[in-house]
Amino acid sequence: MKHIVVIGAGQAGSSLVVKLRNLGFDGQITLIGEEPLPPYQRPPLSKAYLLGEMTLERLFLRPEKMYADENITLKLGEPVTAIDADARTVTVGDETLAYDALALTTGSTPRRLPESIGGALTGVHVVRTLEDVDHMADDIVPGQKALIVGGGYIGLEAAAVAAKLGLHVTMVEMADRILQRVAAPETSDYFRALHRSHGVDIREGVGLDTLLGDERVRSARLTDGTELPLDVVVVGVGITPATGLAEAAGLAVDNGIKVDAQGRTSNPAIWAAGDCASFPYKGERIRLESVQNAIDQAECVAENILGDGKDYVPQPWFWSDQYDVKLQIAGLNTGYDRVVTRPGEADGAQSHWYYAGDKLLAVDAMNDPRAYMVGKRLIEAGKSPAPDIVANPATDLKTLLKA
Ligand code: FAD
Repeated sequence: MKHIVVIGAGQAGSSLVVKLRNLGFDGQITLIGEEPLPPYQRPPLSKAYLLGEMTLERLFLRPEKMYADENITLKLGEPVTAIDADARTVTVGDETLAYDALALTTGSTPRRLPESIGGALTGVHVVRTLEDVDHMADDIVPGQKALIVGGGYIGLEAAAVAAKLGLHVTMVEMADRILQRVAAPETSDYFRALHRSHGVDIREGVGLDTLLGDERVRSARLTDGTELPLDVVVVGVGITPATGLAEAAGLAVDNGIKVDAQGRTSNPAIWAAGDCASFPYKGERIRLESVQNAIDQAECVAENILGDGKDYVPQPWFWSDQYDVKLQIAGLNTGYDRVVTRPGEADGAQSHWYYAGDKLLAVDAMNDPRAYMVGKRLIEAGKSPAPDIVANPATDLKTLLKA
């Protein structure tokens, strides 16, 4: 193996190339990124960075110099436009690069509102890249009226930042409740109450009909007929895996670039990891959108490119920061049929434990790092304490680990 090319200089791409060097690979490595910056973290974009509490320097995953020191070629600012899987080449700009192994870590793209309902008006933003957030920052001005479309984690984090910075914030969520796709009603209730206590007007079961304005957005008409005057809109209605390049190269795609348990695509010389990849897990095919998955899957792929033959087993965890609440999630709640609530020690601390029958699947912990840590270790060990024992505030959580 002489040359490994990685397309997509984000969280997964950066982890993959560094892991290759840490494993002792001494051939050529090229990491190609469409964005003009070296790989950076996205989570602060809707949290500390948007609030103005984090500098650009701190966003970078690794100092740019590290790539040169490790003899990793970074090619930034231009997308790969084609892969020729037969010839084993990629095209970037007017250059053609030959590879022995190729990895796709192309991430995902945010869903935008259609132009026909005002999606292209000035003042309408998505939150995916640093460029998106730098544009948005000019519109996040105290006293302005903001509409957040979509009550998922990104929408809720943007609402928290806007409310904290003194904007008047309304959120619309078309489903019956915020976080419906990802969390239990108990978690939705917790965050609805938190946002309302900070003055955010959350409207559930109500969608956006259309945005109005000449060049700049001025108002919104909602599906219940209400008209809202507006200055800025943040759209958080989900993402689509970036599979275009893979599809054009003839790779199998199924809710993401289809990979086997080791991260290999339908072409044996091409691999994929991170937001863009769908992989087999417990008899199903899933795709995860989280930092932990991007890092762990990319590192596993690095090992497998070098011949380890190791299956990827995700240890899912996720977090979200809203106001002074830190949410930490361990496990995947898919298939749950019961949730128990456990009060935490600190003010407002609480955790929600998801079960399928007697089996513990996942824990949402709000300002309760102990519940998160114990829940994570129990799930990883395949242990399931009885729900009524967990719900009992008199139970010392740590004793559950020894049982
Ligand atoms: P990315 O980091 O998106 O990297 C993909 C890169 O590939 C991009 O830079 C893209 O430009 C590039 N690319 C795509 N196509 C091409 C091409 N043809 N040629 C060259 N380059 C290309 N996760 C958490 O776990 N916790 C959080 O709190 C959290 N908060 C988030 C907040 C925000 C605002 C966002 C946007 C995401 C958040 N996430 C969070 C999700 C997390 O950031 C992603 O899951 C993670 O970044 C995925 O890594 P990735 O490498 O797959 O994709």
